[in-house]
Amino acid sequence: MAETPARIAIVGAGMGGLSAALALAKAGHQHVTVYESAPGLGFVGAGIQLAPNMARILDRFGVWKQIAAEAVQCYETSIREGSSDKELGHVTLDYVEKTYGYPHMVGHRASLAGALYDGCLKEKGIKFKLGSTISEASFAGKPTFKVSPVNGDAPYTVECDVLLGADGVKSLTRVAMLKELGETADVKDTGQAAYRIMLTREQMKHDPELLELIESDTVTRWVGERRHIIAYSIHNKQIYNLSTAQPDVNFAAATNATYTTKGSKSAMLQVYGDFCPKIQRMLNLVPDGEVVEWKLRVHDPLSTWVHGQAALIGDACHPTLPHLAQGAAQAIEDAAVLGVTLAPKRIADAKPETIHRALKIYEKVRKTRAETLVDLAAENGRAMHLGAGKAKEERDKLFAALKQGKGPVPDKWADADVQRMIYGVDVVEDAEKACKEDAFTAKLD
Ligand SMILES: Cc1cc2nc3c(=O)[nH]c(=O)nc-3n(C[C@H](O)[C@H](O)[C@H](O)COP(=O)(O)OP(=O)(O)OC[C@H]3O[C@@H](n4cnc5c(N)ncnc54)[C@H](O)[C@@H]3O)c2cc1C
Repeated sequence: MAETPARIAIVGAGMGGLSAALALAKAGHQHVTVYESAPGLGFVGAGIQLAPNMARILDRFGVWKQIAAEAVQCYETSIREGSSDKELGHVTLDYVEKTYGYPHMVGHRASLAGALYDGCLKEKGIKFKLGSTISEASFAGKPTFKVSPVNGDAPYTVECDVLLGADGVKSLTRVAMLKELGETADVKDTGQAAYRIMLTREQMKHDPELLELIESDTVTRWVGERRHIIAYSIHNKQIYNLSTAQPDVNFAAATNATYTTKGSKSAMLQVYGDFCPKIQRMLNLVPDGEVVEWKLRVHDPLSTWVHGQAALIGDACHPTLPHLAQGAAQAIEDAAVLGVTLAPKRIADAKPETIHRALKIYEKVRKTRAETLVDLAAENGRAMHLGAGKAKEERDKLFAALKQGKGPVPDKWADADVQRMIYGVDVVEDAEKACKEDAFTAKLD
């Protein structure tokens, strides 16, 4: 294979950073380095929805089979009133695979991130610098940044041809980039927080109603005023995963460094105190001292994701509330598009203007789509969290019509038109098309 001289640095080994490294190595790049502050990749224990638009890309990366082997396919979703457990709406999801080529699955984050990491380790072109915190990124000319090893070794400076900031919602790359552009995009409190809970089959098996839940192929959402719980089986139905959203009453206690607080079990039971007995029994299974609350934070849309030879990806530029289950999927779409626009043949000369142009095509393909989903996720949260009043009556009328087989699904996650917009788009095809339409890039194809 011909030498691909571009030196690509990726900050962060989350879903976005790992996927970007894999996409670029698969495209033929030989000098991709991932800098991650964590000394080891101990991936957070929680479930994650693996939507078809994510699966399609993971399959191209060659890692989907490994993930799917442990994941659970969802054949239906049930939206229920949290207080009574009464079903508001029911949607079958078996058409998803027929329509979009991949089923809707749910899995363990460790399995998704682990498969991406394994995929990266097989690529000679990718190096990992774990335990390496990046700071002082500068974008004038070739990007440079300082690397501080967390083991206390002397810091050093790195220069690269492409810098990708995949450093999450607290992204220092974003802050540095916007500072050079004379802008800011401070992280905003959404007023919402999430508990992430995993119950084992062992814990649930003695309760017939809970056993029925863990054995089902259903994504269940229980809704209430300003709160909801979404739950599904993962890990070959050995774990039942619950992810909640509720008012962020512990806001002040959340440290900026982690965005998590050790929650109190009694506070959690109180927040969901008026939810049905089945939910009470599940929440009661969470061991004392193991309740962790995640702050849900976002920021306003950025004026740009690209500065010179640097770009942002994933939560660093489009943090998304979890109410559409698309945050990681969108980070993975970013990565796949970069694999196309930064393909070695398109940036062979590694000139600043060539790289900048490739990054701008990435932004063109991705920004509007990702930001539309950010808004839609927030809107879905509002619709699911309605309290008594006219808006809730209207929503519940839509649920009632759905029971008669008519109209849209008020939970947008399960609505066929919204799914078409999310799952039906192949961003890799879009990126290829955008490169061919670009007068300069087209000449390089
Ligand atoms: C409750 C909840 C449920 C969710 N459910 C889903 C779902 O079902 N489906 C879905 O698709 N998405 C879901 N998401 C969204 C998804 O988790 C995120 O969008 C995704 O993980 C973002 O990945 P990322 O790589 O952009 O950022 P991150 O995962 O935050 O990764 C950033 C990485 O950068 C590293 N880093 C940060 N700063 C530095 C630095 N200065 N130097 C070096 N390294 C650094 C960090 O250590 C971290 O490893 C959910 C989110 C939440 C909160």
